[in-house]
Formats: sequence, C-alpha cells, structure tokens
Amino acid sequence: MENCIFCKIISGEIPSRKVFEDDLLLVIEDIVPQAPLHLLLLPKKHFINCVDMAAEDDALVGYIFRKAGEIAVEKGFADAGFRIAQNNGAGVGQSVFHIHFHLLAGREFAWPPG
Ligand code: 5GP
Ligand code: ZN
Repeated sequence: MENCIFCKIISGEIPSRKVFEDDLLLVIEDIVPQAPLHLLLLPKKHFINCVDMAAEDDALVGYIFRKAGEIAVEKGFADAGFRIAQNNGAGVGQSVFHIHFHLLAGREFAWPPG
C-alpha cells in the first residue's frame, strides 16, 4: 500500500531492527519502546485494523498471536507475563494504519490500560 510506513518497512524501503520474518509476518523492535521489550508484529498483508479484516485473515491473526507467545517465551517473559496490545482507530491511539500487534514486557503494567 502506497504511503504506508509499515508496508515500506516490510518491503525494506525503510530500515528496521528485525526479530523474526517469514512469508506472512515481520516482527520488529518499536522505534519508541514503551517497555524493555516492545516489539511490533506486522502481517505482511496490508489491512487497516480488525474492522478491515476479512474471513480469510482469521488464520493469519491466530498465527500472529501464537508467534507472539513463542517470542515472549524465547525472550524469557513467559513467567513474568507480557502484554499484547492492538489499537483500532485514532481515537484510541492507532497512529499507523496497517494492523499491528504490540508485544510488551519487562516492566509493571497497569490495568485498566490508560
Ligand atoms: P499505534 O500507535 O498505531 O498502535 O502504534 C504504532 C507504533 O509504531 C508506535 O509504537 C510507534 O513507535 C511505532 N513506529 C512508528 N513509526 C515507526 C518506524 O518507522 N519504525 C518502527 N520500528 N516503529 C515505528
Ligand atoms: Zn501497509
């Protein structure tokens, strides 16, 4: 998608610090980390957020959640806990309109989230 920062990161046009990549998914470090571990899981397919999902995306999102868990375990945060966050719409803080999942860990997290 033209003018999408995350599509440009996925294509390599914009550099990123990669943690994992395969045909479906790119996992990178967030450029402004909000926790000691702050990764972004980006499906390579462009869609805006969960409102923009099609039924054909169901398996992809399940895969992303499983991969987030695997990475959290690999990074040593399984016991302490970790948070997966995903914003839908500018009103709740979505700033990049290519769906992505934040994987955050390594500090205390409040609930409810702010
Ligand atoms: P949102 O606010 O849409 O849920 O999250 C967007 C996230 O993307 C933010 O945490 C922001 O720091 C991150 N971000 C924005 N631009 C870039 C970039 O060019 N590279 C990386 N690695 N992260 C970015
Ligand atoms: Zn995109």
